[in-house]
Amino acid sequence: MIQDHYQALKARNLSINASRGRPHTSQVDLCSGMLSSLETHFSEDGADVRNYGGLDGIPEMKRIFAQILDVSPQNIIVGGNSSISMMFDCIAALIHKGIWAAGQKFLCPSPGYDKHFAICEYFGLKMLSVPMTLTGPDMDVTEALAKDPDVAGMWCVPVFSNPQGYIYSDETIKRLASMPTACPSFRLLWDDAYSVHNFRGTRPRIANILHECTNCGNAARPLLFTSFSKISTPGAGVVCMAADENELKIFRERINIQTIGPDKINQLRHAHFFKDLSGVLAHMKKHANILRPKFERAYEVLETGLAGTGASFIQSDGGYFISIDTPPGCAKKVWQLCKEAGVLLTDAGATYPYGNDPLDTNLRLAPTGLSIDEIEQALEVLIVAVKLAVLK
Ligand code: PLP
Repeated sequence: MIQDHYQALKARNLSINASRGRPHTSQVDLCSGMLSSLETHFSEDGADVRNYGGLDGIPEMKRIFAQILDVSPQNIIVGGNSSISMMFDCIAALIHKGIWAAGQKFLCPSPGYDKHFAICEYFGLKMLSVPMTLTGPDMDVTEALAKDPDVAGMWCVPVFSNPQGYIYSDETIKRLASMPTACPSFRLLWDDAYSVHNFRGTRPRIANILHECTNCGNAARPLLFTSFSKISTPGAGVVCMAADENELKIFRERINIQTIGPDKINQLRHAHFFKDLSGVLAHMKKHANILRPKFERAYEVLETGLAGTGASFIQSDGGYFISIDTPPGCAKKVWQLCKEAGVLLTDAGATYPYGNDPLDTNLRLAPTGLSIDEIEQALEVLIVAVKLAVLK
């Protein structure tokens, strides 16, 4: 019977891509006014943004990022259009300067973000999985692993973690800030990609990692990142890193060699369009109004559809993904069955270092770029695939 249902779904010849967290066209449309938002070509420090210079960003964009991350503008370097490439470059800088060495180890809360893991793999940093809990990475495991002098860093997505949508508790953050590390140059790569991306409730406010670390005498520890990719436009947004001023020196020095000037026109467009944190938050309410019905419908369908299958999923109030756990040994089968029926999920295993999900349970679904109708169809396939995989 379930086989018949699956064959009928296959006959629909679906082609639905739920593998990457893309905003829907209606979301990127929200900032189409940004393309014509430039009232002047001068930033507030008098620089003509159409020319070289302003290596670490224009003041108004630094201010907006400082408000988002709750740090001071001196702690900010505005980057280009991708926070992932800024993270990649920071690791390259730390290795180049001999602060880290290839072969050192990196803590990877898992399930986690495949691009983070790919960066570690690229640089030959050995990844160690740390289990995720409702309040962030398992801190007993983290503290124990940090006693190894080869453990040089850790990925953290503190708000609406990818893929589970968990939020680090203040206790977790304080422990990360204060824990002893055997490696003196241990760093937290603090990817605050979803800081303003709640689609329900109010914006989560968490302990400030830079302040916490500084108060514990570990000011150099956190490297913060955030991005406008899912506020304005992926690929044409603007991003930043933030850190202790002293720690930023090596990155400023590197940028000075890498470029003569960033895209300040795009920075000014963003600054004029969003103006300040309250402008960003007002804009994110419009995103939330588009995303909320999609996630809520998905949760509803999954709740009924997965009941009794042994699979489970996580509800969140923000972020871009739905994390689904199949019974052990089934995720790859479910992924394949979905693919054959025209529904593409993020590769099974991708949410773990080296693509290796030890229990073969976790799947990531990205509903944002789809219409509600497509979400319903994709989930019908997924649910039938789970039922089939469990039977086999
Ligand atoms: N960080 C996290 C945790 C993400 O989930 C994503 C996109 O899915 C990114 C960063 C990508 O950011 P950017 O477009 O700025 O490179």
